Amino acid sequence: MEFRSFNFHPHVAAGVQSAGYTTPTPIQEQGIPPVMQGLDVMGLAQTGTGKTAAFALPILHRLMQGERGKVRALIVAPTRELAEQINEAINQLGKLTRLRSITIYGGVAVNPQIDKLKQGVEIIVACPGRLLDHIGQGTINLSHLEVLVLDEADQMFDMGFLPDIRKILTHIPRKRQTLLFSATMPDDIRRLASDILTKPVTIQVGSTAPPVTVTHAIYPVAQHLKTPLLLELLKHTDTESVLIFTRTKHRAKRLGEQLEKAGYKAASLQGNLSQNRRQAALDGFRDGSYQILVATDIAARGIDVSQISHVVNYDIPDTAEAYIHRIGRTGRAARSGDAFTMVTPDDAAMVRIIEKKLDAQLERRSVDGFDYAVPAPHKDQEFARPPRPPQNHKKPAKRDTTHATPGRPGAPKSPATGRPQPPSGSKPAHPSSAPAARHPQRAPRAR
Ligand code: AMP
Repeated sequence: MEFRSFNFHPHVAAGVQSAGYTTPTPIQEQGIPPVMQGLDVMGLAQTGTGKTAAFALPILHRLMQGERGKVRALIVAPTRELAEQINEAINQLGKLTRLRSITIYGGVAVNPQIDKLKQGVEIIVACPGRLLDHIGQGTINLSHLEVLVLDEADQMFDMGFLPDIRKILTHIPRKRQTLLFSATMPDDIRRLASDILTKPVTIQVGSTAPPVTVTHAIYPVAQHLKTPLLLELLKHTDTESVLIFTRTKHRAKRLGEQLEKAGYKAASLQGNLSQNRRQAALDGFRDGSYQILVATDIAARGIDVSQISHVVNYDIPDTAEAYIHRIGRTGRAARSGDAFTMVTPDDAAMVRIIEKKLDAQLERRSVDGFDYAVPAPHKDQEFARPPRPPQNHKKPAKRDTTHATPGRPGAPKSPATGRPQPPSGSKPAHPSSAPAARHPQRAPRAR
């Protein structure tokens, strides 16, 4: 199949060509025709399958006809990074269309967003919290909306955004086309889908299987030897761009520093960074000035670096789905990649769960010449935190409420909901909606 057969508007077809796409990916092959027909679609697909273009191209094609200067397509995404990435893809594919697409998310100044909205845009890529703020303040007009896309719906659910999504739905026209993409289908997402989609066409691509181009291997190792083994592995492996996952943001930060100290161009991406520093780390990884990026699952969500050659699970993820998500970052769009997972004896049960999900045994590997027998230090200092400075209990300085914890005094309130808003990409405030509570088998995670 070729892109030509979709009969895109010539300006959209030119965008496909300039992006260098020659053959549609399976999700594009299955998804583009129903989206172009204006049907609702439920897409079961993980990141890396080409799903962004699967909805972006038909939206651009549709918007070539009709009024300009009105918000006609809204894409809602869980994280700022994913929103930026989708917006970039739209701008790249729609280069010649003169359609305007902007991002809306929290953690950055609101006025530039208001200015752009005033100038008139046709496409908005938004995270739920800030979008609700704009709705509440009347700085956005969604009454002309024709297409709604909910991207990575399962992640929005995990982050506690479902009530916000339902609130947003009350502010947009009922008559619209709705597209919902999710890598997994927990019951709550299934319910949401059946509430908001009308006679949807369901397409499923690789939601339960990782990309076939990925080679997996596990490296059994003691906890205290993970970093030396990682350094050894990096020394002996021909890597282009390496994404490393850790269990906590503290571990991500420390490991990033250790890799830098060992001479690697490495950065870490974790929830504590300011938006500017996150963007700098991502841009540096994308343009190759950082060869290694260390991240937690949530911080890494949606990272799209097409030339990632290796994904390393420094810490094993706590669900098989998370494993598939992580390794979906390599082997993107049919390129090949390697996924290495370090496992300690404590991880044996999780390895079995992953193997069951993949329906394959993961190859056990060891690194020749590496001394696996080095005993653990008396007290494992590797990830010990530096001592805390003495706390004084004076009245705190004025809070930066942008990143305040939801539910705490000072947390920004949404005028639309009247309740505290999590910053985009934050964990839910209410314990009953936290992932660990809904999925008792999951350990609480860091962002
Ligand atoms: P996504 O799943 O939308 O995050 O896309 C994953 C990666 O695949 C991105 O780097 C896209 O630019 C790339 N991509 C999407 N569609 C195609 C295609 N038809 N041919 C080659 N690369 C593609």
